[in-house]
Amino acid sequence: QVLNEFLQLKGNIRVFCRIRPTLNGEKLSHQRSVVPVDSSGILINFAENKRKLYNFDMVLQPSSTQDEVFSEIEPVIKSALDGYNVCILAYGQTGTGKTFTTEGTPDCPGVVPRTIEALYKQAADSNHTYLFSFSMLEIYLGQLKDLLIPHARKTTDPMPPCLSIQTDPNGGIAIDNLVAIQVSNFNHAISLYKLGSRLRSTASTNSNKVSSRSHCMIRVSMTCSDATKRRKLTNKIWMVDLGGSERVLKTKAWGRRFEEGKAINLSLSALGDVINALQRKNSHIPYRNSKLTQVLKDSLGEDSKTLMLVHVSPKEEDLCETICSLNFALRLR
Ligand code: ADP
Ligand code: MG
Repeated sequence: QVLNEFLQLKGNIRVFCRIRPTLNGEKLSHQRSVVPVDSSGILINFAENKRKLYNFDMVLQPSSTQDEVFSEIEPVIKSALDGYNVCILAYGQTGTGKTFTTEGTPDCPGVVPRTIEALYKQAADSNHTYLFSFSMLEIYLGQLKDLLIPHARKTTDPMPPCLSIQTDPNGGIAIDNLVAIQVSNFNHAISLYKLGSRLRSTASTNSNKVSSRSHCMIRVSMTCSDATKRRKLTNKIWMVDLGGSERVLKTKAWGRRFEEGKAINLSLSALGDVINALQRKNSHIPYRNSKLTQVLKDSLGEDSKTLMLVHVSPKEEDLCETICSLNFALRLR
């Protein structure tokens, strides 16, 4: 309750930065370029005597465990049970830990499994009745693909049909024909999640390469009813593993790779524009500029809670992309 009030006071968009630890085999130079200074600041050493401090609502340290990260995110999950639409977005250059944060590994589960677990636990402790349903889709080259349609996507197979987005007069959105499966417990939801993840990665033998060129979006919708069953409330949580933010013009991509990168870059900047416009309380919010922002339209905005998790690399050679990500984050606050 106190946490929820705190969230309300501080506005409904929060920006955290997670710094990836150095992985086995990686070495950092003596003069480090990305230095966390406290729980909310990161100091960037551009060059000798040239540095800049970036501030966030919170900095998640390289040493932070999945447990610690989730405990910072949990208040937002609680707001979903209170009826808010919630959106948790993992942003960053490929290799900085977006999938580690959202999906995690079998030993270190991430935000999606932990959120599902927390939802069931908290629903059980509540005197309301909750029904949850699970959906999963991918935005690839500007098109929406359902990840729960059991379609083998080998190159010779026809692609599953693309989904289209409908806006209703109340400002809500609906995704035509998106599969939403009512899930009865944690294991049921996780089995669907695994199914969807597998469908996403079968598009190529190198799953990380492909997954970094699409946005993967998980939706948990919930209906809450009180003891009388008369008052019903429907809302949702989106958890999004965004495509890699590295700038396509700086990479030497060409052909399809270039198109994929361009589509990701465009939708990420559209996302930045929407959040920036919301923070400035502009009268026009440019949701229509990308499929990503159209899908999230009723979950980014006044009656919703947004948590942007910006991921950065600790490596010197990634400094340019790190600065780009930090500048992107700067525009959101
Ligand atoms: P992205 O999805 O942004 O491309 P990944 O999540 O695939 O990045 O992370 C790249 C590699 O770094 C993976 O092997 C992942 O397990 C590892 N990794 C990322 N973040 C962490 C972390 N906080 N702790 C330990 N390993 C991490
Ligand atoms: Mg990834």
